[in-house]
Amino acid sequence: MVEIIKRGQPKGERVHDITCRYCDSELRFREHEAKITHDQREGDFMTITCPVCKGSLTKVYHP
Ligand SMILES: [Zn+2]
Repeated sequence: MVEIIKRGQPKGERVHDITCRYCDSELRFREHEAKITHDQREGDFMTITCPVCKGSLTKVYHP
């Protein structure tokens, strides 16, 4: 039987908090709800749409 030494989380299930920079709403989203962009120069980032003001928000993504 496989023993769990430290429980992790599937990557798509990781939760992130973000404050909308357009309307100050505090939001929480799971990674699978974000669009992940892989950028060679800028690094990877996630994009979500604020449900309040429809603003486009980005946050750094750590694979
Ligand atoms: Zn907003």
